[in-house]
Amino acid sequence: MSKFKRFLKSSFGAQLPIRQRFFNIIFAMGLLVGIAGVLACMSLNSSNQAIMVSAVMTLAFPLFAYIGIRVKSRQDTLIVIALIVVNFVIFPALYLSGGNIFCGIPSYFCLGLALTLFLAKGKTGYILTTLESFWYMFIYFVSWKWPNFCIDVPAFSMSETGKTDFQFNAVNSNTLMVCVALGLLAKIIFSLYQKEAKIVEDNIIEVERQSIIDPLTAVYNRRFMYSYITEQIEVAKRNSKPLSVVLFDIDFFKNLNDTYGHLLGDDVLKAISSILKNSCKGNEIVARYGGEEFLLILPNFTEAEALERAEEIRECVEKSILSPALSKDKPVTISGGVATLKASTDEEKLIATADENLYKAKENGRNRIVGEEVSL
Ligand code: GH3
Ligand code: MG
Ligand code: MG
Repeated sequence: MSKFKRFLKSSFGAQLPIRQRFFNIIFAMGLLVGIAGVLACMSLNSSNQAIMVSAVMTLAFPLFAYIGIRVKSRQDTLIVIALIVVNFVIFPALYLSGGNIFCGIPSYFCLGLALTLFLAKGKTGYILTTLESFWYMFIYFVSWKWPNFCIDVPAFSMSETGKTDFQFNAVNSNTLMVCVALGLLAKIIFSLYQKEAKIVEDNIIEVERQSIIDPLTAVYNRRFMYSYITEQIEVAKRNSKPLSVVLFDIDFFKNLNDTYGHLLGDDVLKAISSILKNSCKGNEIVARYGGEEFLLILPNFTEAEALERAEEIRECVEKSILSPALSKDKPVTISGGVATLKASTDEEKLIATADENLYKAKENGRNRIVGEEVSL
């Protein structure tokens, strides 16, 4: 996708519901029509043509108003401030600086009112629209009653002021102001859309994270473990590299739960999980296989290397004070079974072998690691 396409997608809220996106696009098109219309108004010298453009622009009002009333608009302070600046200062200044009662510029008053209804929802929208309407009527009245009140603000003084130069300069200054007004609004709105899209994106990431992480221990869950191990077995076979796994189980965990309660049991699970997690480097991962069983996946590890790593972890758990309540008791220990990938093994077989070795470790007195060929 090109950069421009990506910009458009994110500006209109690629992750937002389709209906919201549709209204965003209509709104952006309204802005573009607005810019095009104002440029057309500026370059017309006939009042009749200008009034026609004015009439067409005025049609935008019911459309925006209809959308504005139906759509749940935002109520950001920033947008309300921008609307106040645009409607109370920039559009009136635009009119007074070059327009007269017969020009097309007043159509922008309608656009301004419509924008307000579209962007500022509810009470704020209605109050603001009413105030703006009175303000525009007042300005219209002043310019009709005292035509001299319409002043020109030449933006680029090219030569001595003559009739033609004056119009030309007025056009420039007006165009500049409209661009500033619409640019200001567009900037604020797009940055708010992007912020919104970012929030949606963060939520998606969080949901994805939650679908692969065990909530109690914050290590990977069993579902992720299966997809990861399948992927790693493929990689190992393709590259003829070793792969080992270690299945750990906490010793006499049931007793611990029965003696101290499940809450303390949960704390011990968390503490052991974090020891296991901290031992992982690079593409090594640990997952909660079952209640108090954890599977460590060690890509590129031979059986000897895996045994060594498992032994380090076992020792670390034995020496750790996992909970102050247990400090005077016998240490909590774990047992582990190691299995290493063979040409014919798949994930089921690999885990089953690790489980058999774990069983042997338990049989042999617990707090130990058993591999396929070596026992520690
Ligand atoms: P062994 O040394 O043979 O493994 O003995 P054990 O007592 O650990 O036996 P077993 O593996 O059968 O016991 C598992 C216990 O783990 C039973 C269950 O109450 C406890 N358990 C499982 N999941 C949780 C959990 O999320 N929190 C707590 N607190 N306990 C759990
Ligand atoms: Mg168990
Ligand atoms: Mg156990």
